[in-house]
Amino acid sequence: MATESATVAEARRQMEICNACRYCEGYCAVFPAMAMRRSFTEGDLTHLANLCHGCKGCYHACQYAPPHAFGINIPATFAELRNESYAAHAWPAPLGAVFERNGTIVSLFAALGVALALILTVALQDPAVLWSAQRGVGAFFRVIPHWLMISLGLLTFGFAIVALAMGARSYWRATGGGGGAFAPAPAAEAVVDIAIMRNLGGGGHGCNDLDEGFSTRRRWLHQALMYGFLLCFAATCTGTIYHYFLSWKSPHAFLSLPVQFGFWGGVLMMIGTAGLAHVKIITDPGPVSRKVMGGEFAILGLLFLIAATGLLLLAVRHTGAMGLMLAIHLGLVFAFFLVLPYSKMVHGLYRGIALLRNAQEKRRAVAV
Ligand code: SF4
Ligand code: SF4
Repeated sequence: MATESATVAEARRQMEICNACRYCEGYCAVFPAMAMRRSFTEGDLTHLANLCHGCKGCYHACQYAPPHAFGINIPATFAELRNESYAAHAWPAPLGAVFERNGTIVSLFAALGVALALILTVALQDPAVLWSAQRGVGAFFRVIPHWLMISLGLLTFGFAIVALAMGARSYWRATGGGGGAFAPAPAAEAVVDIAIMRNLGGGGHGCNDLDEGFSTRRRWLHQALMYGFLLCFAATCTGTIYHYFLSWKSPHAFLSLPVQFGFWGGVLMMIGTAGLAHVKIITDPGPVSRKVMGGEFAILGLLFLIAATGLLLLAVRHTGAMGLMLAIHLGLVFAFFLVLPYSKMVHGLYRGIALLRNAQEKRRAVAV
C-alpha cells in the first residue's frame, strides 16, 4: 500500500477539527459532505479537496486559522492536495511528476518547442512562403500544409483526450466512485453547477476573492475563460464543417461563424486569463499555497498567448506576418493540447466529477 503524503495527513488533521467544530457548515458543499463522514480516507480527502473551489470563506471565518496553534487553513491545504491528486492520477504516471513541480518551465518550453518545430518545417519547405503575403482561398495551407496541420492537431488533441479519460477513470475509482446505473438527476445537477459555476457565487454574495470582502469577480472571470474557450472550440468545429461538408475553405470572412466564434472567444479568454492572473497577484496571500502558483500562472499565460496570437493572426492574415503568426499560434495550440492533462486545466474535469459524486451522495443521504 502506498504511503500517504504529508499533505493528506495534514488535510485529515484539519478535517477532523472542522468536523468537531462545524461552524462553516453552510459555507459551501465541502462541509455538508465532510459531515457525512466520521473518518477520512485518502479518497475522501481527495474528493473534498476537489469539491472545494477555493473561495477562502472558511479561512477568513475561522477562529483557528494561523496564528492560532491549530493552524487551520483549508483553502491552502486543499489546493496542495488537489495538485497532488492531479499528479497522482496523471497518465502516463511519470509525466504527472514532471508537471507537478515545473509547470511554468515545462509549459513554456513545450510551447516554444512546438512553435519552433513548425517554423522550421515551413522554413525548410520554402522560406519565402513564411514571409510573403498570402491571400485568397487556402492561404493558410500554403504556409503550413493542410495534412501537417490536421496530423499534428489530431495527434496532440487525441493524446490529450486519452490521457484525460485515463486520469478521470483513475480519479473516479480512487475517490470511491463505483459502477452502478446511470442516474440522470445527479448528472443534470452537476452539469448545471458547472455551467453556471454555482459554487463560485458563494450563495449569491460571492467569495472572498481578495480579502474578507465579498466579490463575484473570480466567478465572472472563470466564466469568461470557460465560455471563451468553448467559443474557440466552436470556431474550430464550424471551420471543420465548412471545410469538409460545404467545401468552404479558410480564410473566412470576418462576419462568418468560425471567425466570429474565434474573435469573441479570444477576447473573452484574454479578459478571463488576465483577470484571474491579476486576482492571484493582488489577493491576500494567507489562504494561498505558493507551491501551486507556478503551474497556475503557466497555464493562464499559455491560454492568454493562444488567444492573443489568434487575434493577432486575424489582424495580420493578409500581410507578410501571417506565416510566422500562424506557426506561433498553432505551436501554442498544439503545445496546450500536450500539456493539458498535466496542467491546472484538469481541475475542471476533477471538480466536475466531485460535483457529480456530491450530487449522488446528497440523494443517498436523503434516501437513508
Ligand atoms: S474552518 Fe475553522 S471555523 Fe470553519 S469548521 Fe473548520 S475549524 Fe470550524
Ligand atoms: S475555501 Fe471555500 S469552498 Fe473551500 S472549503 Fe473553504 S469555504 Fe468551502
